[in-house]
Amino acid sequence: MKLDVTQAIRNAGTVYTFQGEQAMAPQDISGDRIALDDARVEGTFVAMENGDVVVDGTLATVAHARCAYCLAPVSVTVKADYHETFVYGGDPEDDEVFSYDSGKIDLEKLVMSYTVLNLPMRFVCKENCAGIGDWESRGVSVRLSQEELPGQHPFAALKQLLAEQAGESDD
Ligand SMILES: [Zn+2]
Repeated sequence: MKLDVTQAIRNAGTVYTFQGEQAMAPQDISGDRIALDDARVEGTFVAMENGDVVVDGTLATVAHARCAYCLAPVSVTVKADYHETFVYGGDPEDDEVFSYDSGKIDLEKLVMSYTVLNLPMRFVCKENCAGIGDWESRGVSVRLSQEELPGQHPFAALKQLLAEQAGESDD
C-alpha cells in the first residue's frame, strides 16, 4: 500500500488521514510457515519542513499457522500501533530507518515489520493443548509400536537394567 504524500509535502504541518489494505507475503519463521491475510491499515501522516514524513497508525491482520503441539490449524488476530518517520532520501537498504524518495511512501515494509514483531511466540490451538493425543480425540489413530520406539518401552529399559545387574553379579 502506498501513500501519496505530494500534497502533504506542499502543506508541511497539515495532518492527512489514510486507510487501505496491504497484501502480506507469507513468512517462514523458525521453520513454520505463517500465512497472513491482507492487513487493514489506517492512520495519519504529516510532512515536516525538511521533507520527512511522520506516519502514525494501526494495522490489523490474521495470521494462519499450525499448533506447535498437535499441528491443528490455528488463526490468530494480530494488531499493532506504529509511529515512524520516513526519511526523505534515506538509504532504502538501511534496516534501521524507513525512507522514501518520491512522492509516494510504500507502507509494505512498515506493516510487515510490525506484524512480525507482534506475532505470538508460539501458535497453539488452545491453552494446555495435549499435543499428539488430541489427534486421537478427533478420530485420527496414532499407533506407535514397540519396534518404532524401542527406547520408550518401559519393559525394555527394565530388561536392560536387570541384564546389567546380572552382568555385575557375575563378576
Ligand atoms: Zn494443539
